[in-house]
Amino acid sequence: MSILKDKTVFISGASAGIGMATAKKFSEKGVKLVLAARRIDRLKELKKDLNGNIFTVQLDIREYDAVNTVISKLPNEFKNIDILVNNAGLGRGLDKLHQANRESWEDMIDTNIKGLLYLSRAIIPQMVERNQGHIINIGSIAGHEVYPGGNVYCATKHAVDAITKGMRLDLVDTKVRVSTVDPGLVETEFSEVRFYGDTERAKKVYQGYTPLTPDDIADTIVWIAERPPHVQIAEVIIFPTDQASASSLNRK
Ligand code: NAP
Repeated sequence: MSILKDKTVFISGASAGIGMATAKKFSEKGVKLVLAARRIDRLKELKKDLNGNIFTVQLDIREYDAVNTVISKLPNEFKNIDILVNNAGLGRGLDKLHQANRESWEDMIDTNIKGLLYLSRAIIPQMVERNQGHIINIGSIAGHEVYPGGNVYCATKHAVDAITKGMRLDLVDTKVRVSTVDPGLVETEFSEVRFYGDTERAKKVYQGYTPLTPDDIADTIVWIAERPPHVQIAEVIIFPTDQASASSLNRK
């Protein structure tokens, strides 16, 4: 039986891509799931396909008050969150910084950095109080390297890297673990969101090579969570075999 059985797992951005795949993998382990995203209809559909005890909630993680309200009003059985997967995030455009629009920066900074901070601030105190828990942040290779047009997105993921390291320092005197999973190219709705619904452009991102799937990342997230309590996986960088760095891709 998995050591995850009956643990409570909170996943932000569970309505698509990596977050949705992670919800499915965790549900196979007998956990209780709290699934959050803005598209609540999608979460409700997902819930129908999953086993076990699942609470879905509509949440825009950019809204500080909404984050605090959702966390403080969780039903009793979901209140003690054991694993927080800070997955919700997005890229907006690939424009040069001096040509980009301000809204794209606000979107990325508010979601990828501030939203992650709001959720962490709301959830970590009860982990510290119970002296147990695990925060798994989804960073990116963009948190280690900068690629053309990546400017602000890469800055937000560099921030996630720094925040992850800071959290680990802050929590070293507790049993709370902090990990980050930093993928290269994964085929999800990410590019469609980045290119504001331009499906053709988004498809091209994943053509001519074999990208990672959301399941590949979800497997790793669950594996990290399943390590024994004294083992803290600090960081996992995952590339498709056809990728060697943020801007080196063996595209045919
Ligand atoms: P995706 O398919 O577009 O999924 C993104 C998820 O984030 C959706 O469920 C979306 O839900 C949620 N989200 C976005 N803004 C939100 C907000 N303000 N409040 C709540 N939820 C929000 O993309 P993905 O590839 O799975 O991305 C997941 C994470 O992986 C992101 O942090 C991304 O930066 C990271 N990542 C992706 C790749 C890649 O190649 N795909 C590579 C490295 C890292 P709603 O729209 O319903 O709110």
